[in-house]
Amino acid sequence: MTHGKGAYVWDQDGHRYLDLVGELTAGLYGHSHPAIRAAILATFDGVGLSLGATTAQEHRYAALLCERFHLERVRMANTGTEANLHALAGARRFTGRRKVVVFAGGYHGAVLSFGEGRAADNNVDRGEFVVVPRYNDTDAAREVIASVGGELAAVLIEPMQGAGGCICGRPDFLLAVQQAAHEVGGLFILDEVMTSRLAPGGLGAEMGLKPDLVTLGKYLGGGFSFGAFGGREEVMAVYDPRVKGALAHSGTFNNNSMTMHVGCRALEEVFTPEVVREFNGKGDGVREKLAEVTRGTRLSFTGRGSLMGLHFTEDGMEDVESGTDVWGKERVDLRDLFWFEMLEEGFWITRRGMIALILGTPDEELDRFVGAVEKFLDRHGEIM
Ligand code: PLP
Repeated sequence: MTHGKGAYVWDQDGHRYLDLVGELTAGLYGHSHPAIRAAILATFDGVGLSLGATTAQEHRYAALLCERFHLERVRMANTGTEANLHALAGARRFTGRRKVVVFAGGYHGAVLSFGEGRAADNNVDRGEFVVVPRYNDTDAAREVIASVGGELAAVLIEPMQGAGGCICGRPDFLLAVQQAAHEVGGLFILDEVMTSRLAPGGLGAEMGLKPDLVTLGKYLGGGFSFGAFGGREEVMAVYDPRVKGALAHSGTFNNNSMTMHVGCRALEEVFTPEVVREFNGKGDGVREKLAEVTRGTRLSFTGRGSLMGLHFTEDGMEDVESGTDVWGKERVDLRDLFWFEMLEEGFWITRRGMIALILGTPDEELDRFVGAVEKFLDRHGEIM
C-alpha cells in the first residue's frame, strides 16, 4: 500500500480499496480524520513531542480512561502487549503467586499468544501459564482454575477472542471464570485491548464483569502506539513509586505527548459513548445482512459490533463457541480465494479473515461489500 485517506487505502499500482483491515482495530478513526489531524498539529506546534515528564495532559487522559472504563487507577504504556505484561507482573506481586491461567485461542500480544500452532517458543516462561483447552467452556475453566488453586496469580482472558477468530465470550461463562479466580484468591484480568471499542465502558462492563485489572490499547492512542493497564487501587499500588520496593514502570515513550493529546482528544470529541453505540450498531447490522447471504454455505461471520471474523469450514460455523473447535478445520484454500477476489472487488481485509470497521465508512460501501460476498458465493456455488 502507498497511502490511505478516510476509509480507503491505495496500492502501489494505484488501485483503491475500502479499508476493512482498520489496522487490526487500532485504525478506528481512519486515515485522515479532521479531529485527529487538528490534535496532531496542535500538539506538534504547541506542546512538542515528548517532555520527559509527567504532564497535565497525561493526567487528563488518565482521568478520562478511568471514568470511561471504570478503573480506579491507570498507567500508560506503548502497546497492548506491554500492558498485559505489566498487568501480569502486578498480579504476581500483589498475590505473591506465579501461575496464570489463559485460554486456548487467546491472544494477548506476540509473546502472550495461545492460538493454533502458537503454543511453542517465545519469550514468556510457558511453564507458568496453564491453558484452558476450550474458551466458553465453564466446566473446563473451573476445573483448571481449581487445580491451580493457591498458586494462581491471575486469570487473563479476552471478553471476545479477537485474533482467535472473533469468538464472543458468553457472559455467564466470563462471570463464572471471574468467580472461580476469586474463589482461589487469584485476580481476574480482562484484556480489552481489542474489545474496549465495542461498548461505551468496554465489553466487560456491558456484560456485568468486575475485573481486578483491565488492559487497553489500539485505537485509544488515536492512531499512535498505545497501551494502558489499570483497575483496583490496592492492586495498582504495587506500582506506586512512593512505596519502597515497588515494581518499576519505566518506558521512554509511555506518556509521550502525541499519544496523550491525540488519544485523549479523539476519545473526548469523536468516540463519545453515543458514537460507540451507533457505530457498533451499524456493525451488527452489517453482520445480520452477511448472515442472510451466507446462510447454508461454508462461509460464516462471527464477532460483535464493529469487529468480525470470517470462517470457511466444511459445515459452516453456526453456534461455534470456541475457535479451537475449528482448529485444523478451516478451509484456508477458500479463505485465500475469497481474499484475492475481494481485492479484485476493491476490498482490503486481512488474509486470515478479520474485519475491523472504520468510523465514518459510508453505508453504501458496506452494502457493496455484502453484495460482493453474495456474488462470490454465487460464483462458486458448487464448492460453497
Ligand atoms: N491483546 C489483544 C486482545 C490483542 O488483540 C492484541 C493485539 O492484537 C494485543 C493484546 C497486543 O497489542 P499490541 O499489538 O499493541 O502489542
